[in-house]
Amino acid sequence: MGEPMSQTLLEARSPAMQRSVTPPMWRLTGARVATGAATAITTDLAVINGRLHHAPPANSHRRGAAQMGSPIPVQTVDLRDYIILPGLVNAHDHLEFGLFPRLGHGPYQNFLEWAADIYYPNRSPVKEQLSIPKSVRLWWGAVRNLLCGVTTVCHHNPQIPCSFRARLPVRVVTRYTWAHSLALGKNVAETFRSTLVDTPFIIHAAEGADEQSRAEIFWLDQVGALDPKTVIVHGVGMDRAGHELLERRGSALVWCPTSNQFLLGRTLDLDSVRQHRRIALASDSALTAAGDLLDEIRFARGHLRATAEEAYAMVTNRAADVLRLMRGEGTLTEGAVADLIAIADDGGRPCDSLSALNLERLELVMVGGEIKLLSPSLARRWSNEVSANLERLEIDGVDRLIAAPVRNLFNVAQKHLGKEIHLAGKRVRV
Ligand SMILES: [Zn+2]
Repeated sequence: MGEPMSQTLLEARSPAMQRSVTPPMWRLTGARVATGAATAITTDLAVINGRLHHAPPANSHRRGAAQMGSPIPVQTVDLRDYIILPGLVNAHDHLEFGLFPRLGHGPYQNFLEWAADIYYPNRSPVKEQLSIPKSVRLWWGAVRNLLCGVTTVCHHNPQIPCSFRARLPVRVVTRYTWAHSLALGKNVAETFRSTLVDTPFIIHAAEGADEQSRAEIFWLDQVGALDPKTVIVHGVGMDRAGHELLERRGSALVWCPTSNQFLLGRTLDLDSVRQHRRIALASDSALTAAGDLLDEIRFARGHLRATAEEAYAMVTNRAADVLRLMRGEGTLTEGAVADLIAIADDGGRPCDSLSALNLERLELVMVGGEIKLLSPSLARRWSNEVSANLERLEIDGVDRLIAAPVRNLFNVAQKHLGKEIHLAGKRVRV
């Protein structure tokens, strides 16, 4: 990483977080549970050792406890009136820019024009933003994802050190190789060649509307860097032949519509999106995105007329496929990792609940069986010990309890940015 991680925040855990004990076992009862974009069933879910089990037999909690060698009893939580969805998978972000405002005055011909226009590290607001320790900025990027129901995020930058990453409240993808782009990446072809089978090689490409952007996909193919491992982020400048080539090679595409619209004045049209089997919807960074992953869903649905089923798949199972996640992320299947969200149930299809989701409606986020976000009203259904592990944050007037050292993060941000703090455009208070 370009700058040292702040030791203070590397070590930072609230006193409550330091009390964190053996992963708890839960029995979640009475909720409807999504089995697909359009289907849900009412069933109990057991969370044992961070994994999901459907409708377990009555004595399963005892077996689970025995497996763990732990005396901790299963805690039953009544989730009647809620629908449980898989935790969302955000296939593209740059976590350290979560507190940045949107920068730029597009449309530009390509991202290089944009970068030249906005990158003045000695001027406000970039100067103040970059003066915040990187570890604090990464935390805020993780919080931005958590607040909108993301449980797995792909960070497009050097790997975050393991000991730090483990403390973040969302999973950060670790198995990937990457290059920034053809223009700014180093050793692109070599990096691709060193990528193991079943590991994504992720690169920004065709992020522009000019000839160079159109040609990038063909250059990647010529150097042999286009195969099922390849994940192209953006692809806006690709022509029909480019889209066909990408699909023929079995490569994947990540679509960041509001970022594209802001930078380039355009994004992929729905016909192009529908050409691809392997495609994910993602937020990109706060530097260019409208907000968070839920804003991308709204934009894809409202402006681009993607169906609710398409949007649902592109932030759950299809996004997990693009990133080659192996533990059932993006699903609620038997044995999958227990990454889930809960929303007040209106009786509709899971994909319609997701399309209507906003920060206020999202009331629970669980990652690997651990509670990372609760609404105050839902917190009353859990033991006090759960709430004691969380800190309060207000985002756009919505109160949430989250697993982050909120007060510490807020104080550091205020020291550098002043009184008002915004996270991806939304006002934050503690
Ligand atoms: Zn990006």
